[in-house]
Amino acid sequence: MHRPLVVGTGIAGLWSAWRLAAEGHDVRLVTKGTLEDSNTAWAQGGIAVAMDVGDSPALHAADTIAASDGLADPIAVDVLVTEGPDRIRELLGLGAQFDRGPDGALVFGLEAAHSRARIIHSEGDRTGAALVATLSKVVRAHPKIELIEEARVRRLVVQDGRVVGAIVLNVEGEPTAIATPAVVLATGGVGQLFEITTNPSVATADGWAIAQAAGAELHHVEFLQFHPTALHIPGINPAPLLTEALRGAGAWLVGANGDRFTFEADPRGELAPRDIVARAVAGRALRGDAFLDARHVADVAGRFPGVEVLVARHGLSLATDLLPVAPAMHYAMGGIRTDLDGAATLPGLWAVGECAQTGVHGANRLASNSLLEGLVFADRAGRSVSRMLTEQPRRVSSFAPAPNDGDHGPDALGADIVRAMRRLMTRDVGVLRTEHGLAEAEVALADLRAAVPEGAWHVADQLRIAALIAREARRRRESRGGHRRTDFPNPRTPV
Ligand SMILES: Cc1cc2nc3c(=O)[nH]c(=O)nc-3n(C[C@H](O)[C@H](O)[C@H](O)COP(=O)(O)OP(=O)(O)OC[C@H]3O[C@@H](n4cnc5c(N)ncnc54)[C@H](O)[C@@H]3O)c2cc1C
Repeated sequence: MHRPLVVGTGIAGLWSAWRLAAEGHDVRLVTKGTLEDSNTAWAQGGIAVAMDVGDSPALHAADTIAASDGLADPIAVDVLVTEGPDRIRELLGLGAQFDRGPDGALVFGLEAAHSRARIIHSEGDRTGAALVATLSKVVRAHPKIELIEEARVRRLVVQDGRVVGAIVLNVEGEPTAIATPAVVLATGGVGQLFEITTNPSVATADGWAIAQAAGAELHHVEFLQFHPTALHIPGINPAPLLTEALRGAGAWLVGANGDRFTFEADPRGELAPRDIVARAVAGRALRGDAFLDARHVADVAGRFPGVEVLVARHGLSLATDLLPVAPAMHYAMGGIRTDLDGAATLPGLWAVGECAQTGVHGANRLASNSLLEGLVFADRAGRSVSRMLTEQPRRVSSFAPAPNDGDHGPDALGADIVRAMRRLMTRDVGVLRTEHGLAEAEVALADLRAAVPEGAWHVADQLRIAALIAREARRRRESRGGHRRTDFPNPRTPV
């Protein structure tokens, strides 16, 4: 009853648990799948950090703020960029291996919208998987951390305005009550609310739903980032990412008749910023007329072996085929509103990583800042919980699960409803939004909610968050960052 509960084993959850344990606390760490199931494990790019010669936290901050389209919190950004290097050094101390040059120094890569080369990678495009492997080893070996896989948090328990625990389900759907003075949500993304997403199956917005139901504030949920080029084969979920480096190497975006349509949107064509390309692809993808053509790129399969393996699984090859693409829901900038220590607006609750809204991304995320945010704010949350446990130790009383807390099947009955929700979210609440489309989506989501079978609470939770995103997107009558209204194409000023 004195142990804090950390929920989720992506970079943010693993780091929070480790920090708490390093501060001397016993910790319970639960995750609904296995350690391999997280957005973190899929991260292909790398981590942005200002550590190279000629770079500085101030330059990194300037790029982050420019990407945020006016909505980043400069203080949160300052925390991110100044504390980032120390977290990376600590990560190295825990055994993480980042790619190094012949002289043994870290190699820093350049990415779009970064003014300096500051992206570090592990094993090329396996950064996320390598991070999870390193941190999993640390967490599994730590005597103060109890790791429970296949344990899904269903809801938080609040008494007298304070979180005092959670109801956790095992793989059979049996509920257990866990009393704790502190819950750290590190539940990751919301991509699975959309039909086309790069996020794995665990990214079902659980943290947002759980926190909101308990009374915590969510903020900026309408700001979502869509990756312009995911391989689009109906029924393949998640949609495999076709890295932007392919376009960097000269691949084209074309219609079936070979026209390079991104030039209609921007003179930089395929090399225009991510959101411009995503919008150009979105319009065409709705008609099934968007393809990535890399056939003319010299030795393309040899230069992109990871992507070649990925497309080969679907009978395609970079060297010989046009690859059907669509933009895919990729990253959520908003989330559970927190302060600089990761504390949510509800006492006893912290939120870290992608499920949190710390203020560092504003309306749009600078590429490769999310893994860094996961480290920096998870560390702060761990320290903050540690301080609370030390300075104001509190014992919480036990409680029992409610009769309807278990999960004995009704969610399966809602599978068609979830499919319909995902379809309409991609169509009406995706890359291109209008008043009409959003209003229709809200009505359709309400109809779907009315049809949810009794007891299918996870379906109901997803619909509630989907409706919230649609409502906030309709209320924001402007285009800013990841939120594009075709009927309000400009940003409002002042912010
Ligand atoms: C394909 C892809 C590539 C990316 N590439 C990069 C990149 O190169 N650089 C970068 O900075 N970012 C990248 N991102 C984004 C980045 O990976 C994520 O933002 C980041 O990993 C999120 O970490 P997290 O710890 O917050 O959440 P996650 O890594 O998503 O982990 C969430 C955890 O919570 C668990 N969970 C969820 N709900 C529950 C529940 N109810 N009960 C118990 N457990 C639960 C999940 O199972 C999971 O373990 C990429 C994302 C994707 C999808």
